[in-house]
Amino acid sequence: MTALTAEHALKMPRFRFGVRQKVLLVLLTVLLVALSVSGWMALREEKANLLKEIDQRGSYIGRFVAKALAYSVVGYDYHTIQLLLDELTAAQEIDYAKVTNAKGNTMGESGSAALDIDTEQAAKEGLVMFTHDIRIDNERVGTLYLGLSTAHIMERLENQKFALLKRESLIILLIALGEFLALSYIIIRPVGKITDFLRRNVDDDGLLVSDIPMVSNDEFGQLAQQFNTLGNQLNEANKKLQSKIESADRRLLETNQQLKQLNDEFKLLSITDPLTGLFNRRHFDEIMETEVGLSNRHGDPNSILLIDIDHFKGINDTYGHYVGDLVLKSMTKLLQDNLRHTDAICRIGGEEFAVLCKRADKAGAMEIAEKLRSVVEATPMAPETDDELMITISVGVASVPYNAKNVSPKQLYKDVDTAMYYSKNNGRNRVTHISDLYQEDSTDTEPTENECSRG
Ligand code: GH3
Ligand code: MG
Ligand code: MG
Repeated sequence: MTALTAEHALKMPRFRFGVRQKVLLVLLTVLLVALSVSGWMALREEKANLLKEIDQRGSYIGRFVAKALAYSVVGYDYHTIQLLLDELTAAQEIDYAKVTNAKGNTMGESGSAALDIDTEQAAKEGLVMFTHDIRIDNERVGTLYLGLSTAHIMERLENQKFALLKRESLIILLIALGEFLALSYIIIRPVGKITDFLRRNVDDDGLLVSDIPMVSNDEFGQLAQQFNTLGNQLNEANKKLQSKIESADRRLLETNQQLKQLNDEFKLLSITDPLTGLFNRRHFDEIMETEVGLSNRHGDPNSILLIDIDHFKGINDTYGHYVGDLVLKSMTKLLQDNLRHTDAICRIGGEEFAVLCKRADKAGAMEIAEKLRSVVEATPMAPETDDELMITISVGVASVPYNAKNVSPKQLYKDVDTAMYYSKNNGRNRVTHISDLYQEDSTDTEPTENECSRG
């Protein structure tokens, strides 16, 4: 696992309206609904209680006053009746009082309400009407009407409503707060723990570095365990993938190495002469380009030898091509044995060889060429055959830098060819340096006609 970095840690946005706020909103809504419902129910109950109380009081007062007035009614004591009724309505809760005799004639009336008030109108006036028979020995001698006011009841109800609301809202608020804290502890805390842990324990590859600890013993705990299982499976899969990638990398590397090797081999083949194993003409041209370029730039000496076997056609004709090939191979070995390993030996034609003698000036190159000529002359070729086959070579030599001039590889090759043909045309088995062919005072690079002509 790689080290964690802040930038690579799992990106988790901070929610503006997250679970916490949502829970709070739900609780507030529940609180408001609960407040309204409980307030409404409590008031309804309170109102019913008060009305019942009025009813009981009205019945009691009615019964009591009816009894007290019975003899005044039969005695036509209007004065007492009126006094009593006035006394009654002077009390806060009774707004209206009336007494009629058995025939229904009014014997006394008191209070603010209109005469002959009916129940419906009374309700509108905020009164509750009570009617009581006035009896003596079970005989109805009159009727008492009482109107009890509900205004003070309403006032009491209003006061109680506020008291109730205050009390209940406080209780519900406390309950909501408790619930919020409980929910936070039960739901939000474990979720927060999981997200915090994930934020801090995910590596650069997006993998869990360690298991989420047990956050709670419930569904959230299970969720965390599921995360761990998934994380472990992901880690395993990643490991397998990594090892597959590594082995694929290794195979790719091996294939690349093989390809490189093949490429090198192909490259070597493309610059190698198959018969002798020497460099071919293509490579000779390449090194000429490089080395002559270097000599021109830095002034380091370089020399080229062009070697052609004399009368080689005759060998083929006399001994056959097989022996001709053996001679070419012997010639190769002889060249390799008598040259430095830094000299590049190339077979550039049928029986033509070119040697690039690095860092050899004219004198050095002429010495090498002369040595080769004499060794070839003295060495029997094709030792595999019974015949003692002797050959000679004609050699042309050219060196750079020449006359403090820059010479192109093409020109140099032309010069060395000219020198070699000069050797051919002048008896063969000899060495010619191109510079010896130029007239001493001439700046012309071409040799004179009689010095150089091809045979
Ligand atoms: P000179 O002295 O003028 O160079 O005479 P020469 O016979 O060497 O020259 P010429 O160019 O006439 O002959 C070259 C011969 O080399 C012709 C060809 O048959 C032969 N030759 C070219 N390549 C090969 C080869 O790979 N193997 C063999 N055995 N002979 C080859
Ligand atoms: Mg030739
Ligand atoms: Mg030849």
